[in-house]
Amino acid sequence: MFSYRHAFHAGNHADVLKHLTLLAALQHLQHKEGGLLLVDTHAGAGQYRLDHDAARISGEAAWGIAALAAAPAPPPPLARTYLEAVAAFNPDGGLRHYPGSPALLATRLRPQDRLALFEWHPTDGRLLDRAVRAWLQREPRPAITLRRDDGFAGLRALLPPPTRRALVLIDPSYELKRDYATVVACVGEALHRFAQGCYLVWYPLVGREQAHALPKRLRALAVHHGRAWLQAELNVGTPADAAAKAAAARGRAIGTLRASGVFVINPPYTLAEQLRETLPWVLGALRRGPAAAWKVDAGEARP
Ligand code: SAM
Repeated sequence: MFSYRHAFHAGNHADVLKHLTLLAALQHLQHKEGGLLLVDTHAGAGQYRLDHDAARISGEAAWGIAALAAAPAPPPPLARTYLEAVAAFNPDGGLRHYPGSPALLATRLRPQDRLALFEWHPTDGRLLDRAVRAWLQREPRPAITLRRDDGFAGLRALLPPPTRRALVLIDPSYELKRDYATVVACVGEALHRFAQGCYLVWYPLVGREQAHALPKRLRALAVHHGRAWLQAELNVGTPADAAAKAAAARGRAIGTLRASGVFVINPPYTLAEQLRETLPWVLGALRRGPAAAWKVDAGEARP
């Protein structure tokens, strides 16, 4: 049984990097009229309360979305888009709610798009089911499907999409060591079925060989298929303050993950520039100590 619950991590620096990138990719793809298949293979609970138990215990959002929302204005355009997306879930002006990737995608669906969500955890699957029903009640969007099943396997059946346009978020918890290899196999098969899709993989930068090998293996896949790729990483550094160090030492989630990355295959051509403009500002707000850094690398498609 899985024990990972995204509620402890909602709105942390890793979510900031992932959701900025997701919104940028979606915004770009929606410039064209053609219907998009949006897939979230590891959806989580959909949306989160930042003032409730899990998020309050971990305190991670304080060093993510909360720090960003309090950063000196003006934010670069992509950061503004992201902050506005979060603000839309907090109509009273506070920061009590955080939209997960399903909420960000569902609220941007056009009539011609469809969204497929997968969530395996029984509790988060139930919460996501409830959230989806609430979104549908507020505004009928019949094109959302939720399967409380394995997202790696589920993606296969959806490709290629009839409209030949897709944005796929692959965002496992990497609770299982084998997830690293499964991501590579999943993306390899997805490219084989539909090489034109935009695939966005989030990964943690932790002291595990598989974690460091993952972006290299994804780059090798992109190059093998002649596809453009982009890799962005954000390291918020080591906390300098004693309270955060003590919390980390007690094994609480706060501050234990310092860095993460996103690897995008077939990124929008504007994405690298957008992230290079945005991440310095983001890091200025989220920096916790020495070793804080960001990077964006990209490679072009080759026939
Ligand atoms: N994508 C979400 C977001 O950005 O808001 C966060 C997802 S969280 C990092 C990963 C989720 O994947 C967890 O809720 C976990 O229960 C779920 N999960 C783990 N293995 C899965 C699998 N094989 N298929 C579908 N969901 C899975």
